[in-house]
Amino acid sequence: MNWLTDYVRPKIKQVFRTREMPENLWQKCDSCGQMIFHRDFEAQLHVCDNCGHHMKIGPDARFRALLDEGTMAAVEVPEPIADPLKFRDTKRYTDRLKDARSKTGFKDAATVVEGQMAGVPVVLAAHAFDFMGGSMGMAVGNALLAAAERAVALGAPLIAFPAAGGARMQEGILSLMQMPRTTVAVEMLREAGLPFIVVLTDPTTGGVTASYAMLGDIQIAEPGALICFAGPRVIEQTIREKLPEGFQRAEYLLDHGMLDMVVDRRQMRETLTLVVEMLMRPVPLPLLDDAEGAGKSAAGRKRKVAAEKDAAGPSVESEAAADAGGEAEARSKG
Ligand SMILES: [Zn+2]
Repeated sequence: MNWLTDYVRPKIKQVFRTREMPENLWQKCDSCGQMIFHRDFEAQLHVCDNCGHHMKIGPDARFRALLDEGTMAAVEVPEPIADPLKFRDTKRYTDRLKDARSKTGFKDAATVVEGQMAGVPVVLAAHAFDFMGGSMGMAVGNALLAAAERAVALGAPLIAFPAAGGARMQEGILSLMQMPRTTVAVEMLREAGLPFIVVLTDPTTGGVTASYAMLGDIQIAEPGALICFAGPRVIEQTIREKLPEGFQRAEYLLDHGMLDMVVDRRQMRETLTLVVEMLMRPVPLPLLDDAEGAGKSAAGRKRKVAAEKDAAGPSVESEAAADAGGEAEARSKG
């Protein structure tokens, strides 16, 4: 009806919409400032082709890049009680959760899927850093447990991709309890003789570093990832000294024996497939006699665990038998 509202306003909106487009089409490298076209950015898995800087990538894109096409399926994660502490800082915790959910499309910070890598079944769990800093609360604990249970059920390795600012402070002590809970999840895999592989991504800090993220059978990290408990700024303020160059970065940790490998994200699929195949494929027959070869394979590890259990079993039983014998003797004396 009105010329201003019906004609001018839509036209103005259209003009501004077209102005927004270039920003969405181009991604700027956080490190060197190079502009990367969005299609190239996706194809390069959010790695700058100019300087090799690894930018954050969501769980979905990561899973898709690693798994064989058409094999990915979600693993259900039980939902925890929402906000049992009724926590409120500047905002209510439930409102923060709602915002994060609508912003990222995830239910919580960790996502779990199963699939195949070169035909070998695997379970993958990854944090979304966009979801409240990837922080570990009850939901992340549930995710890790669900992932470990699914891996044990499938007889598959679990590969985790932590990225977190630490424990979720809005859940107080309940978030700290996820440290032993996720450790139990890792222990489940160990008991089943299944590999637990960790790929540390930028940043892995706090309670996540202090629990499951450092318990991998194989510890891999992405280049330049910050991996620490307390961050460099906190340490500098505490000890009042300048920290060495690259302190707490993946390469520094590799040099100091905390990691097995630092792997470029673009070679991650290749590397993980090789590792998973080495650990999970049945060992060729001639190797079975070779103690070293058998020790490295999953089957060999299972056998080793079984052998250890056998070794422990009789001694416990014989002790019990000795006790029973002693009691009988005492009784007969009485
Ligand atoms: Zn760059």
